[in-house]
Amino acid sequence: MKFASRLVSFDPAPGDRFRPISTPIYQTATFEQEHTDSFGEYDYSRSGNPTRAVLEKHLATLENGTRGFCFSSGMAAISTVTRLLRSGDEILADSDLYGGTCRLFSKVIDRNGIAVRYEDARAPEQFEQQITPLTKLIFVESPTNPLLRVIDLRRMAHFAHAHGALLCVDNSTMSPYLQNPLDLGADIVLHSATKFLCGHHDVTAGVIVVKNEALAEQIYFVQNAEGSALGPFDCFLLLRGIKTLKLRLDCQQQNALAIARYLASHKQIKQVYYPGLSESCDFDLQRSQARGPGSVLSFTTGSVEISKAIAEYAEFFHITVSFGSVTSSISLPGTMSHASVPANLLAERNLPPDLVRISVGIEDEEDLIADLDQAIHRATSH
Ligand SMILES: *Cc1c(COP(=O)(O)O)cnc(C)c1O
Repeated sequence: MKFASRLVSFDPAPGDRFRPISTPIYQTATFEQEHTDSFGEYDYSRSGNPTRAVLEKHLATLENGTRGFCFSSGMAAISTVTRLLRSGDEILADSDLYGGTCRLFSKVIDRNGIAVRYEDARAPEQFEQQITPLTKLIFVESPTNPLLRVIDLRRMAHFAHAHGALLCVDNSTMSPYLQNPLDLGADIVLHSATKFLCGHHDVTAGVIVVKNEALAEQIYFVQNAEGSALGPFDCFLLLRGIKTLKLRLDCQQQNALAIARYLASHKQIKQVYYPGLSESCDFDLQRSQARGPGSVLSFTTGSVEISKAIAEYAEFFHITVSFGSVTSSISLPGTMSHASVPANLLAERNLPPDLVRISVGIEDEEDLIADLDQAIHRATSH
């Protein structure tokens, strides 16, 4: 079955005698049992809920894994992955990570005696040299956010397995439509489902998918023990959003490519970061491991003031953190999403202060380009 068909072809309500075509919201915390000494399929919604079960199974299928897990946020999913480690273990992460992930790694899990080191995964030889016997988890995103740098995921999987570590890939910028890290050798794929999977900026959610059953059992244990699973209503909204993932992303990606070309040819724009441009140094690597470049891109203008003014003058592009929605957004990562990165790390990462990130929505391509054009014109004409 092709991906577009898979998005809508699943059992929406296993065992339901009314055969609804949309998954019911089982808004219940607990389930009545027949016996005191043996439980039915569901007993308590923290441990399992039928609406969540449909979503988790669907996501496992879409990521070509065997088990899926949904959480109250992307951060809750990432936090759950870190629970696989023990005091004394180390995480080796790419140096261009989502701000919240850096904050969790550098300011929370270090309290449990887990060390994190950051290294540029685009220099693979150097990266491999940083792996030690204590390294139990390699953590990367690709393409990264906000610099859209592409990491060789097959190579990362090879490094991880040669050194007895797990590879976890945060696939939020791609979604399962464009990239399947488990097929490239990753052990764990995760998503901030708040982004493309939801697609409408109305749910905060996270996803983990794995192939290995022993790993699945460990993740399930933590999800239940910590009580971080996604609630039934949010599961319903995600199930609804996922059905149009391909339609949305095809349109968003087409718009993004047109905008990237427009920006790349604009004399007031210094640099465009987007792996879909054939002049991008990441173009070939991206094509070798993903089915498209996505719809998030960044650019610099040479001046923080101009960047700020473009964001404020743009009308279709709303100033919001987050990405992946049907509505376009614009942000300055240096002062917004990445303000949570500890200052020393931010300095090391060379995040240009004038970097503007846009997430392209499903509006009309001509409207979007005209909007950016007027914003750039106004921002640069005094
Ligand atoms: C947004 C995001 C997260 C965090 O997800 P939340 O749903 O906001 O908790 C993690 N990784 C990446 C790449 C993200 O963009």
